[in-house]
Amino acid sequence: MEIFDIAVIGAGPAGCMAAIRGNQLGKKVILLERNNEIGRKLLITANGRCNLTNSAPPEFFLRMFGKRGSFYREIFNKYSNQDLMDFFKKNGLQLKEESNGRIFPVTDQAKSVVDVLKKVMDETGVIIIYNYRLKHLQKDSNIFNILSQQNNLITAHNVILATGGTSYQFTGSSGDGFKVAESLGHHISTLNPGGIPLLTDEEWTHELKGITLDDVGLSIGYQGKIKSLARGNLLLTHFGISGPVILDLSHDILDMMNEYGDLNLHIDLKPDLSLEELEKQLVDDFTEYRRKNLKNYLKNQLPHKIIIPILKNISLDPGKKLNQITKKERKILQKTLKSLILTITGYLPPDRAMVTCTGVSKKEINPKTTESKLVNNLYFAGEIIAGCGRRGGYNLQQAFSTGYVAGESASHK
Ligand SMILES: Cc1cc2nc3c(=O)[nH]c(=O)nc-3n(C[C@H](O)[C@H](O)[C@H](O)COP(=O)(O)OP(=O)(O)OC[C@H]3O[C@@H](n4cnc5c(N)ncnc54)[C@H](O)[C@@H]3O)c2cc1C
Repeated sequence: MEIFDIAVIGAGPAGCMAAIRGNQLGKKVILLERNNEIGRKLLITANGRCNLTNSAPPEFFLRMFGKRGSFYREIFNKYSNQDLMDFFKKNGLQLKEESNGRIFPVTDQAKSVVDVLKKVMDETGVIIIYNYRLKHLQKDSNIFNILSQQNNLITAHNVILATGGTSYQFTGSSGDGFKVAESLGHHISTLNPGGIPLLTDEEWTHELKGITLDDVGLSIGYQGKIKSLARGNLLLTHFGISGPVILDLSHDILDMMNEYGDLNLHIDLKPDLSLEELEKQLVDDFTEYRRKNLKNYLKNQLPHKIIIPILKNISLDPGKKLNQITKKERKILQKTLKSLILTITGYLPPDRAMVTCTGVSKKEINPKTTESKLVNNLYFAGEIIAGCGRRGGYNLQQAFSTGYVAGESASHK
């Protein structure tokens, strides 16, 4: 039976890049994928547009991976965002930069990214076996025995596990790699997911599903303190909140929940004004437009559909004329506009996360090579590694960079 130099398990971005790099270095590489195609999750990234990396400088990049981001220092040095952009350009895919440094293919099609990976693998001669679902991995002296669910055996000197995490499981990433890593003595760090919508308690906002609150300020209330978080667009849903700013912050918010329990999210609907400036504006306007009713006045201040529910929630009559509003009522209104409070109680099932975060403990992985510190010649690449980056192209860069380094390191063994 042929013994491959490198067997890569999982044909997502991490596995494809690992296989390409191994082949470029002259190794005999086999790529094993449980689906009948490569990159199924890649195809749905950024709503099918694929935000494949970010133009941010190296230090900023590391910060986007949180407290243990420095784990990736050497990996991103060896294969940077610029290297990845050059790879796609060299292989005929032009890229464009959008807001906050996010890089997309000019085609706005994730399929173009997958097509490049497929083309390069065809050209370099990577052998791909589809419908091969890894069940068991075992090392016998210096050879790995790789067994599929159908008991097909493949042998290799080096194995790269690139089976992804456990989110959006219909794409094929259902945590198989975690079980295999555990069977070889690795520990799986359980972490909060990243990029996941949050559940809130206040049912009156659930009825406002589909409404986006543009450019609101967010802060978190815990143990009598307030921590300011960020500004951005928040989507109200039938279960709670989502939208870009929530998907960006959810991981940090859930970490705080682990520490403090249910949290209050304070939504600042008027983030450009301080409380005092808002008060002055309301006092002036209530005099100038005194004959207007509250509902009509607020039409210039808030999305129309939320005006009546908000007023109902603070027991203010929408039809009341501005000159009839008492000082106490005005104060309640200004407080609500600056700090609409929602109670965060949890998050959607982890399958709905953009990144799993739970994964093989970084302590057990060599950050120079991605090789296991417990099992020689075993490597990890992509989302299977514990932790996650912020939204903005950082996670795909992590997958490509760890894949590249794993493929190169396994080739030099
Ligand atoms: C909806 C959504 C949108 C996203 N958008 C972006 C974005 O725009 N930018 C960004 O940076 N990140 C984005 N992400 C995150 C990004 O998709 C992941 O970080 C990335 O796909 C991880 O790559 P990977 O190769 O490690 O794993 P995956 O892409 O999950 O690939 C793993 C592969 O392994 C295969 N596999 C699993 N188990 C086995 C087994 N037992 N045997 C054989 N094969 C197996 C799977 O079928 C799959 O093909 C998004 C995620 C989601 C869910």
